[in-house]
Amino acid sequence: MLPDVVVIGGGIVGCACAYYLSREGVRVCLVEKGTIASGTSRAGQSHIVLWEEPDINLQLEKASRDLYEELSEELPFDIEYRRTGSMAIVENPADWEAFARTVRSLQARGLNCQLLQNDDLIRLEPNLAPDLAGGAFFPEDAQVNPILTTLALAQAARERGADIRLFTEVTGIALSDHRVAAVETTAGRIPTARVVDAAGVWSAAIGKMVGVDIPVIPRRGHIIVTEPVPENLIHCKIILAAGYMQTLGATTGVALSANIQQTRSGNLLLGSSRDFAGFDRSVNPAVIQAQAARNLRFLPALADIHVIRTYAGLRPYSPDLVPIIGEADSVKGFYIATGHEGAGITMGPITGKLISEIITGKAPTVPLEPLSLRRFSQRQEED
Ligand SMILES: Cc1cc2nc3c(=O)[nH]c(=O)nc-3n(C[C@H](O)[C@H](O)[C@H](O)COP(=O)(O)OP(=O)(O)OC[C@H]3O[C@@H](n4cnc5c(N)ncnc54)[C@H](O)[C@@H]3O)c2cc1C
Repeated sequence: MLPDVVVIGGGIVGCACAYYLSREGVRVCLVEKGTIASGTSRAGQSHIVLWEEPDINLQLEKASRDLYEELSEELPFDIEYRRTGSMAIVENPADWEAFARTVRSLQARGLNCQLLQNDDLIRLEPNLAPDLAGGAFFPEDAQVNPILTTLALAQAARERGADIRLFTEVTGIALSDHRVAAVETTAGRIPTARVVDAAGVWSAAIGKMVGVDIPVIPRRGHIIVTEPVPENLIHCKIILAAGYMQTLGATTGVALSANIQQTRSGNLLLGSSRDFAGFDRSVNPAVIQAQAARNLRFLPALADIHVIRTYAGLRPYSPDLVPIIGEADSVKGFYIATGHEGAGITMGPITGKLISEIITGKAPTVPLEPLSLRRFSQRQEED
Protein backbone atom coordinates (compact mmCIF):
# COMPACT_ATOMS: atom_id res chain seq x y z
CA MET A 1 0.00 0.00 0.00
CA LEU A 2 1.29 3.49 -0.81
CA PRO A 3 2.17 5.65 2.19
CA ASP A 4 0.12 8.76 3.00
CA VAL A 5 3.30 10.38 4.29
CA VAL A 6 7.02 9.78 3.83
CA VAL A 7 9.10 11.00 6.78
CA ILE A 8 12.75 11.70 5.92
CA GLY A 9 15.07 11.13 8.89
CA GLY A 10 15.22 8.61 11.70
CA GLY A 11 16.32 11.01 14.43
CA ILE A 12 14.16 11.90 17.41
CA VAL A 13 12.13 14.38 15.35
CA GLY A 14 11.41 12.02 12.43
CA CYS A 15 10.63 9.10 14.75
CA ALA A 16 8.26 11.28 16.81
CA CYS A 17 6.51 12.34 13.58
CA ALA A 18 6.20 8.70 12.51
CA TYR A 19 4.86 7.73 15.95
CA TYR A 20 2.23 10.46 16.30
CA LEU A 21 1.10 10.10 12.66
CA SER A 22 0.76 6.33 12.85
CA ARG A 23 -1.15 6.67 16.14
CA GLU A 24 -3.73 8.63 14.12
CA GLY A 25 -4.00 5.83 11.58
CA VAL A 26 -1.91 7.63 8.93
CA ARG A 27 0.13 5.25 6.71
CA VAL A 28 3.74 6.30 7.26
CA CYS A 29 6.96 5.30 5.56
CA LEU A 30 10.11 6.58 7.34
CA VAL A 31 13.34 6.58 5.34
CA GLU A 32 16.70 6.89 7.03
CA LYS A 33 20.05 6.88 5.25
CA GLY A 34 21.78 5.16 8.19
CA THR A 35 20.25 3.58 11.29
CA ILE A 36 17.79 5.01 13.81
CA ALA A 37 19.49 7.78 15.85
CA SER A 38 22.63 7.74 13.72
CA GLY A 39 22.62 11.55 13.31
CA THR A 40 22.52 14.23 16.02
CA SER A 41 20.07 12.31 18.20
CA ARG A 42 22.85 9.96 19.29
CA ALA A 43 25.05 12.89 20.34
CA GLY A 44 22.81 14.82 22.72
CA GLN A 45 23.00 15.09 26.49
CA SER A 46 19.83 14.33 28.42
CA HIS A 47 18.17 17.58 29.46
CA ILE A 48 14.46 18.22 28.97
CA VAL A 49 14.59 21.97 29.50
CA LEU A 50 11.56 24.16 30.20
CA TRP A 51 13.10 27.61 30.40
CA GLU A 52 14.65 28.45 27.04
CA GLU A 53 13.39 31.73 25.57
CA PRO A 54 11.63 33.03 23.49
CA ASP A 55 8.06 32.47 24.59
CA ILE A 56 7.20 30.05 21.77
CA ASN A 57 10.09 27.80 22.87
CA LEU A 58 8.78 27.87 26.45
CA GLN A 59 5.40 26.72 25.14
CA LEU A 60 6.92 23.94 23.02
CA GLU A 61 9.10 22.77 25.90
CA LYS A 62 6.27 22.61 28.42
CA ALA A 63 3.97 20.79 25.99
CA SER A 64 6.74 18.33 25.10
CA ARG A 65 7.64 17.63 28.73
CA ASP A 66 3.97 16.81 29.33
CA LEU A 67 4.09 14.40 26.38
CA TYR A 68 7.21 12.78 27.88
CA GLU A 69 5.17 12.01 31.01
CA GLU A 70 2.81 9.98 28.77
CA LEU A 71 5.53 8.52 26.55
CA SER A 72 7.45 7.15 29.52
CA GLU A 73 4.34 5.02 30.21
CA GLU A 74 3.23 4.19 26.67
CA LEU A 75 6.46 3.49 24.75
CA PRO A 76 7.47 -0.17 24.44
CA PHE A 77 10.61 0.10 26.61
CA ASP A 78 12.22 2.24 29.28
CA ILE A 79 13.53 5.58 27.98
CA GLU A 80 15.15 6.51 31.33
CA TYR A 81 12.80 9.44 31.79
CA ARG A 82 12.88 11.02 35.24
CA ARG A 83 11.69 14.36 36.61
CA THR A 84 15.06 15.44 38.01
CA GLY A 85 14.75 19.22 37.89
CA SER A 86 17.78 21.23 36.86
CA MET A 87 19.99 23.79 38.54
CA ALA A 88 21.44 26.87 36.85
CA ILE A 89 24.42 28.43 38.61
CA VAL A 90 25.78 31.97 38.50
CA GLU A 91 29.55 32.04 38.73
CA ASN A 92 30.25 35.72 39.46
CA PRO A 93 28.43 38.10 41.84
CA ALA A 94 28.46 40.77 39.08
CA ASP A 95 26.04 38.61 37.04
CA TRP A 96 23.65 37.85 39.90
CA GLU A 97 21.18 40.75 39.51
CA ALA A 98 20.62 40.19 35.78
CA PHE A 99 20.09 36.47 36.37
CA ALA A 100 17.68 37.10 39.26
CA ARG A 101 15.66 39.42 36.97
CA THR A 102 15.45 36.67 34.32
CA VAL A 103 14.27 34.14 36.89
CA ARG A 104 11.64 36.56 38.26
CA SER A 105 10.39 37.19 34.74
CA LEU A 106 10.05 33.42 34.15
CA GLN A 107 8.19 33.12 37.48
CA ALA A 108 5.86 35.96 36.45
CA ARG A 109 5.03 33.97 33.29
CA GLY A 110 4.02 30.97 35.39
CA LEU A 111 7.24 28.92 35.40
CA ASN A 112 7.89 27.09 38.63
CA CYS A 113 11.46 28.00 39.69
CA GLN A 114 13.26 29.20 42.79
CA LEU A 115 16.27 31.44 43.26
CA LEU A 116 19.04 29.95 45.42
CA GLN A 117 21.50 32.07 47.39
CA ASN A 118 25.06 30.76 47.77
CA ASP A 119 24.38 29.05 51.14
CA ASP A 120 21.25 27.28 49.75
CA LEU A 121 23.31 26.11 46.81
CA ILE A 122 26.08 24.65 48.93
CA ARG A 123 23.58 23.02 51.30
CA LEU A 124 21.91 21.30 48.33
CA GLU A 125 25.10 20.51 46.42
CA PRO A 126 28.06 20.38 48.86
CA ASN A 127 30.52 19.34 46.14
CA LEU A 128 30.13 22.56 44.16
CA ALA A 129 32.89 25.19 44.36
CA PRO A 130 32.21 27.23 47.52
CA ASP A 131 32.58 30.68 45.93
CA LEU A 132 29.78 30.56 43.33
CA ALA A 133 27.34 33.48 43.48
CA GLY A 134 24.08 31.51 43.63
CA GLY A 135 21.61 29.99 41.23
CA ALA A 136 18.11 28.76 40.59
CA PHE A 137 16.31 25.43 40.74
CA PHE A 138 13.88 24.47 37.95
CA PRO A 139 11.85 21.56 39.39
CA GLU A 140 9.81 20.97 36.22
CA ASP A 141 12.84 20.01 34.12
CA ALA A 142 13.51 16.35 33.43
CA GLN A 143 15.99 13.92 31.96
CA VAL A 144 15.79 11.22 29.32
CA ASN A 145 18.06 8.94 27.31
CA PRO A 146 17.84 10.37 23.77
CA ILE A 147 18.99 7.23 21.95
CA LEU A 148 16.54 4.97 23.79
CA THR A 149 13.76 7.51 23.21
CA THR A 150 14.41 7.65 19.47
CA LEU A 151 14.57 3.84 19.23
CA ALA A 152 11.39 3.46 21.31
CA LEU A 153 9.47 5.98 19.17
CA ALA A 154 10.56 4.11 16.03
CA GLN A 155 9.56 0.75 17.53
CA ALA A 156 6.18 2.11 18.67
CA ALA A 157 5.56 3.58 15.20
CA ARG A 158 6.46 0.24 13.63
CA GLU A 159 3.99 -1.53 15.96
CA ARG A 160 1.30 0.86 14.68
CA GLY A 161 2.04 -0.02 11.07
CA ALA A 162 4.79 2.41 10.06
CA ASP A 163 7.16 1.08 7.40
CA ILE A 164 10.70 1.99 8.53
CA ARG A 165 13.38 1.68 5.85
CA LEU A 166 16.97 1.94 7.04
CA PHE A 167 20.07 2.47 4.88
CA THR A 168 17.79 4.20 2.38
CA GLU A 169 18.93 7.63 1.31
CA VAL A 170 16.58 10.19 -0.23
CA THR A 171 18.16 11.45 -3.45
CA GLY A 172 15.33 13.54 -4.88
CA ILE A 173 11.69 14.56 -4.55
CA ALA A 174 9.46 14.59 -7.63
CA LEU A 175 6.88 17.36 -7.93
CA SER A 176 3.83 17.66 -10.10
CA ASP A 177 2.29 21.13 -10.42
CA HIS A 178 4.07 22.38 -7.24
CA ARG A 179 2.84 19.38 -5.27
CA VAL A 180 4.83 16.47 -3.87
CA ALA A 181 4.38 13.41 -6.11
CA ALA A 182 7.10 10.93 -5.06
CA VAL A 183 10.30 10.47 -3.10
CA GLU A 184 13.34 9.09 -4.96
CA THR A 185 15.64 6.95 -2.85
CA THR A 186 18.67 4.71 -3.26
CA ALA A 187 16.21 1.81 -2.93
CA GLY A 188 13.69 3.07 -5.48
CA ARG A 189 10.82 5.51 -5.91
CA ILE A 190 8.08 5.93 -3.28
CA PRO A 191 4.94 7.62 -4.65
CA THR A 192 3.33 9.89 -2.03
CA ALA A 193 1.57 13.25 -1.76
CA ARG A 194 3.22 14.27 1.51
CA VAL A 195 6.78 14.43 2.77
CA VAL A 196 8.09 15.49 6.17
CA ASP A 197 11.63 16.87 6.08
CA ALA A 198 12.98 15.81 9.49
CA ALA A 199 16.58 15.51 8.32
CA GLY A 200 18.14 17.66 11.06
CA VAL A 201 21.34 19.34 9.88
CA TRP A 202 20.71 17.84 6.42
CA SER A 203 17.20 19.37 6.16
CA ALA A 204 18.43 22.27 4.00
CA ALA A 205 19.72 19.76 1.42
CA ILE A 206 16.29 18.07 1.36
CA GLY A 207 14.62 21.50 0.99
CA LYS A 208 16.85 22.23 -2.03
CA MET A 209 15.40 19.16 -3.76
CA VAL A 210 12.06 21.03 -4.02
CA GLY A 211 13.45 24.57 -4.27
CA VAL A 212 12.63 25.48 -0.65
CA ASP A 213 15.32 27.46 1.16
CA ILE A 214 15.63 26.21 4.77
CA PRO A 215 18.13 28.30 6.76
CA VAL A 216 19.37 25.48 9.01
CA ILE A 217 23.10 24.89 9.40
CA PRO A 218 25.18 22.60 11.64
CA ARG A 219 26.53 23.90 14.94
CA ARG A 220 29.06 21.61 16.53
CA GLY A 221 28.98 20.61 20.20
CA HIS A 222 31.47 18.50 22.16
CA ILE A 223 30.71 16.09 25.00
CA ILE A 224 33.07 14.55 27.56
CA VAL A 225 31.90 11.22 29.03
CA THR A 226 33.27 10.12 32.41
CA GLU A 227 33.32 6.78 34.15
CA PRO A 228 30.26 6.13 36.40
CA VAL A 229 30.46 8.20 39.59
CA PRO A 230 28.59 7.86 42.91
CA GLU A 231 25.03 9.20 42.97
CA ASN A 232 25.86 11.63 45.78
CA LEU A 233 28.52 13.53 43.82
CA ILE A 234 25.68 15.69 42.48
CA HIS A 235 22.14 15.37 43.83
CA CYS A 236 20.43 17.32 41.07
CA LYS A 237 21.23 15.35 37.92
CA ILE A 238 21.48 18.41 35.66
CA ILE A 239 23.67 21.32 36.78
CA LEU A 240 24.68 24.00 34.33
CA ALA A 241 26.20 27.45 34.34
CA ALA A 242 23.60 30.20 34.03
CA GLY A 243 25.88 31.64 31.34
CA TYR A 244 24.89 28.67 29.13
CA MET A 245 21.95 30.71 27.82
CA GLN A 246 24.34 33.42 26.55
CA THR A 247 26.33 30.84 24.59
CA LEU A 248 23.20 30.14 22.50
CA GLY A 249 23.44 33.62 20.97
CA ALA A 250 27.17 33.49 20.11
CA THR A 251 27.85 33.58 16.37
CA THR A 252 31.67 33.46 16.22
CA GLY A 253 34.47 31.46 17.88
CA VAL A 254 33.86 28.67 20.36
CA ALA A 255 31.25 29.44 23.03
CA LEU A 256 31.79 27.37 26.18
CA SER A 257 29.77 26.69 29.27
CA ALA A 258 29.72 24.19 32.12
CA ASN A 259 26.92 21.65 31.80
CA ILE A 260 27.05 18.57 34.04
CA GLN A 261 24.51 15.78 33.59
CA GLN A 262 24.52 12.40 35.30
CA THR A 263 22.87 9.59 33.34
CA ARG A 264 20.92 6.72 34.86
CA SER A 265 24.02 4.50 34.52
CA GLY A 266 26.04 6.93 36.63
CA ASN A 267 28.31 8.36 33.92
CA LEU A 268 28.61 12.13 33.66
CA LEU A 269 28.06 13.87 30.33
CA LEU A 270 30.02 17.12 30.47
CA GLY A 271 29.09 19.85 27.98
CA SER A 272 29.05 22.17 26.37
CA SER A 273 30.58 23.94 23.40
CA ARG A 274 29.15 25.66 20.34
CA ASP A 275 30.99 26.47 17.14
CA PHE A 276 30.25 26.59 13.43
CA ALA A 277 32.55 24.11 11.70
CA GLY A 278 30.39 23.02 8.79
CA PHE A 279 29.72 19.28 8.80
CA ASP A 280 32.98 18.52 10.62
CA ARG A 281 32.12 16.18 13.49
CA SER A 282 35.71 15.62 14.58
CA VAL A 283 36.75 16.30 18.17
CA ASN A 284 38.97 19.32 18.74
CA PRO A 285 41.30 18.53 21.71
CA ALA A 286 41.70 22.24 22.57
CA VAL A 287 37.93 22.58 22.95
CA ILE A 288 37.78 19.45 25.12
CA GLN A 289 40.49 20.87 27.37
CA ALA A 290 38.75 24.24 27.75
CA GLN A 291 35.39 22.54 28.29
CA ALA A 292 36.84 20.30 31.02
CA ALA A 293 38.29 23.39 32.74
CA ARG A 294 34.88 25.14 32.67
CA ASN A 295 33.22 22.16 34.35
CA LEU A 296 36.02 21.80 36.91
CA ARG A 297 35.51 25.43 37.91
CA PHE A 298 31.98 24.55 39.07
CA LEU A 299 32.61 21.01 40.35
CA PRO A 300 36.23 20.68 41.57
CA ALA A 301 35.69 17.00 42.48
CA LEU A 302 35.85 16.23 38.76
CA ALA A 303 39.64 16.38 39.06
CA ASP A 304 39.63 12.82 40.45
CA ILE A 305 37.30 11.33 37.86
CA HIS A 306 38.39 9.52 34.68
CA VAL A 307 37.19 10.46 31.22
CA ILE A 308 36.25 7.41 29.14
CA ARG A 309 35.52 9.08 25.79
CA THR A 310 34.74 12.30 23.97
CA TYR A 311 32.63 13.01 20.91
CA ALA A 312 31.09 15.82 18.93
CA GLY A 313 27.65 16.21 17.34
CA LEU A 314 26.01 18.76 15.08
CA ARG A 315 23.04 20.77 16.34
CA PRO A 316 20.54 21.81 13.65
CA TYR A 317 20.82 25.59 14.13
CA SER A 318 18.08 27.91 12.95
CA PRO A 319 19.07 31.59 12.95
CA ASP A 320 16.49 32.67 15.57
CA LEU A 321 16.90 29.51 17.70
CA VAL A 322 13.26 28.60 17.15
CA PRO A 323 12.46 25.39 15.25
CA ILE A 324 10.77 25.42 11.86
CA ILE A 325 7.57 23.36 11.86
CA GLY A 326 4.86 23.45 9.23
CA GLU A 327 4.03 23.14 5.53
CA ALA A 328 6.09 25.12 3.01
CA ASP A 329 4.07 27.82 1.23
CA SER A 330 5.51 27.12 -2.22
CA VAL A 331 5.22 23.30 -2.35
CA LYS A 332 1.99 21.59 -1.37
CA GLY A 333 2.63 18.50 0.72
CA PHE A 334 6.18 19.46 1.77
CA TYR A 335 6.28 19.68 5.57
CA ILE A 336 9.28 20.86 7.57
CA ALA A 337 10.27 19.73 11.09
CA THR A 338 13.78 20.92 11.83
CA GLY A 339 16.02 23.56 13.40
CA HIS A 340 15.77 22.49 17.05
CA GLU A 341 19.43 23.37 17.80
CA GLY A 342 20.24 22.29 21.38
CA ALA A 343 16.66 21.46 22.37
CA GLY A 344 15.59 18.77 19.89
CA ILE A 345 15.51 16.05 22.54
CA THR A 346 13.21 18.27 24.58
CA MET A 347 11.01 19.31 21.67
CA GLY A 348 11.01 16.09 19.61
CA PRO A 349 7.67 14.76 20.93
CA ILE A 350 5.72 18.03 20.53
CA THR A 351 7.16 18.44 17.03
CA GLY A 352 5.88 14.99 16.05
CA LYS A 353 2.48 15.77 17.56
CA LEU A 354 2.25 19.13 15.77
CA ILE A 355 3.14 17.57 12.40
CA SER A 356 0.46 14.94 12.98
CA GLU A 357 -2.07 17.64 13.94
CA ILE A 358 -1.24 19.69 10.82
CA ILE A 359 -1.51 16.70 8.48
CA THR A 360 -4.71 15.33 10.00
CA GLY A 361 -6.31 18.78 10.20
CA LYS A 362 -6.58 18.95 13.99
CA ALA A 363 -6.25 22.12 16.08
CA PRO A 364 -2.54 22.56 16.93
CA THR A 365 -1.44 22.18 20.56
CA VAL A 366 0.88 25.20 20.14
CA PRO A 367 0.43 28.24 17.79
CA LEU A 368 2.02 27.53 14.42
CA GLU A 369 2.70 30.99 13.00
CA PRO A 370 5.90 31.66 15.06
CA LEU A 371 7.22 28.30 13.81
CA SER A 372 6.59 28.90 10.10
CA LEU A 373 9.36 29.06 7.51
CA ARG A 374 7.82 32.25 6.12
CA ARG A 375 8.83 34.19 9.26
CA PHE A 376 12.34 34.51 7.83
CA SER A 377 11.23 36.05 4.53
CA GLN A 378 8.72 38.29 6.34
CA ARG A 379 11.50 39.62 8.55
CA GLN A 380 13.70 40.25 5.50
CA GLU A 381 10.87 42.24 3.89
CA GLU A 382 10.42 44.29 7.08
CA ASP A 383 14.17 45.17 7.23
C1 LIG B 1 26.43 18.00 22.12
C2 LIG B 1 24.94 18.08 22.05
C3 LIG B 1 24.18 18.08 23.21
C4 LIG B 1 22.80 18.16 23.16
N1 LIG B 1 22.07 18.09 24.31
C5 LIG B 1 20.71 18.20 24.26
C6 LIG B 1 19.94 18.15 25.46
O1 LIG B 1 20.45 17.94 26.56
N2 LIG B 1 18.61 18.36 25.35
C7 LIG B 1 17.99 18.57 24.15
O2 LIG B 1 16.78 18.78 24.14
N3 LIG B 1 18.70 18.56 23.00
C8 LIG B 1 20.04 18.40 23.02
N4 LIG B 1 20.77 18.44 21.87
C9 LIG B 1 20.07 18.71 20.61
C10 LIG B 1 19.45 17.48 20.00
O3 LIG B 1 20.33 16.39 20.07
C11 LIG B 1 19.06 17.78 18.53
O4 LIG B 1 18.32 18.97 18.44
C12 LIG B 1 18.21 16.62 17.99
O5 LIG B 1 18.86 15.40 18.17
C13 LIG B 1 17.92 16.84 16.50
O6 LIG B 1 17.17 15.72 16.07
P1 LIG B 1 16.74 15.55 14.57
O7 LIG B 1 15.85 14.35 14.50
O8 LIG B 1 16.23 16.84 14.03
O9 LIG B 1 18.11 15.29 13.77
P2 LIG B 1 18.95 13.94 13.61
O10 LIG B 1 18.98 13.14 14.85
O11 LIG B 1 20.26 14.33 13.01
O12 LIG B 1 18.11 13.11 12.55
C14 LIG B 1 18.12 13.42 11.17
C15 LIG B 1 18.27 12.11 10.42
O13 LIG B 1 18.08 12.35 9.03
C16 LIG B 1 18.87 11.41 8.32
N5 LIG B 1 19.03 11.90 6.95
C17 LIG B 1 19.67 13.02 6.56
N6 LIG B 1 19.63 13.14 5.22
C18 LIG B 1 18.96 12.07 4.76
C19 LIG B 1 18.60 11.61 3.45
N7 LIG B 1 18.93 12.28 2.35
N8 LIG B 1 17.91 10.46 3.34
C20 LIG B 1 17.55 9.74 4.44
N9 LIG B 1 17.88 10.11 5.71
C21 LIG B 1 18.56 11.27 5.86
C22 LIG B 1 20.17 11.38 9.12
O14 LIG B 1 20.93 10.23 8.87
C23 LIG B 1 19.67 11.51 10.56
O15 LIG B 1 19.58 10.25 11.19
C24 LIG B 1 22.16 18.30 21.89
C25 LIG B 1 22.90 18.27 20.72
C26 LIG B 1 24.29 18.15 20.80
C27 LIG B 1 25.08 18.09 19.52
